[in-house]
Amino acid sequence: MTSNIARILARLAALAKPTGRCWLCLEASHSPLCATCQGDLPAKGSRCRQCGEAGPAQCRACAQKAPPFDEVHFGVPYGPPLDALIHRFKYQRHWWLDAPLCQPLLAALAGVDRPDCLVPVPLHWSRRLWRGFNQAHLLAHHLGQALDLEVNPRLLRRQRATRQQQGLGRQARQRNLSRAFKLCGPVPAHVALVDDVMTTGTTAATLARLLKQAGCQKVQLWCLARA
Ligand SMILES: [Zn+2]
Ligand SMILES: [Zn+2]
Repeated sequence: MTSNIARILARLAALAKPTGRCWLCLEASHSPLCATCQGDLPAKGSRCRQCGEAGPAQCRACAQKAPPFDEVHFGVPYGPPLDALIHRFKYQRHWWLDAPLCQPLLAALAGVDRPDCLVPVPLHWSRRLWRGFNQAHLLAHHLGQALDLEVNPRLLRRQRATRQQQGLGRQARQRNLSRAFKLCGPVPAHVALVDDVMTTGTTAATLARLLKQAGCQKVQLWCLARA
């Protein structure tokens, strides 16, 4: 999707937004989620600094073999009430939900190292055509505007349609993803990959490895929710 289309969608989204109300409880609110609803979101608890897994500051998996990405930042643990909003955003084309969905992530990003650019996790063109848009690109666009960061949707390309990752084992996922992505252009020193939900992190790891092999020094993953 070109940046122009993302901009047009963002403008349409702005028109459809209910102004002055919280998206979850519909009470009057200046932000997309009111302070009460934001406070009621499930707590993240203690997390691994590198992969975001619940538990100690360094999980056993990262201690044994560090993943190629350096940090994971996310808004909420995946689950109610935002999972329903994420589903509507992704599958029912409710693009205007970008603001309430990004709010917890933006709060989590306070004080975090700023990347040189945001790179949405790419969709294969056939799936983008089917869905009508790449949800990660819309999120990156919203975050880029909020934080005044450049968005580069063309740095990574998915050159092969991959099967749905859901329900596949770890090895099958890796096989499925190998050679699915291609780097298109010079790599900045610090990149933040943007996606809606992180499940196993296999996709992020594949992309981070590709970026690091091309000289990228730091890769963060930013996502709305982490499973
Ligand atoms: Zn509310
Ligand atoms: Zn970890």
